[in-house]
Amino acid sequence: MSFRVERDELSSPFFEGTDGGTLLIRRCPNCAQAYRPQVEGCGDSDSLRWEAAKGVGTLVSWAVDHSTPLDNSLTSLDGSKVIFGIIELDEGPWLQVPIVGCDPSSLEEGMEMRVCFIRPGGGEAIPAFAPRHVGGLT
Ligand SMILES: [Zn+2]
Repeated sequence: MSFRVERDELSSPFFEGTDGGTLLIRRCPNCAQAYRPQVEGCGDSDSLRWEAAKGVGTLVSWAVDHSTPLDNSLTSLDGSKVIFGIIELDEGPWLQVPIVGCDPSSLEEGMEMRVCFIRPGGGEAIPAFAPRHVGGLT
């Protein structure tokens, strides 16, 4: 079994961003509210702008999956587990993402995280997050 992400017309701008190492979010041109990339409209606008996020945030929550990883790019530091977490971006939106390159026991609520990009199955680059002190990930 494999895991691979493909773009469609709606997600194309987002994956153009991740392909170049940029995490894009949405922002309302009227009320300036920031949204997750999947959100297409606000109460006062149906044409949200794309905007580069700083790619940093804090860890809200996470879960560890001990079954066989779908793809090696998704795994924790020792390669045996997959961690999925919720990150609150500095801009405000919450993202559900893989947490990579760390030991699950080292995670703490509220710790600073930063984005990196992985390509499960050689498909589109998707955002993942790692603790900010973990170096060497791109
Ligand atoms: Zn708005």
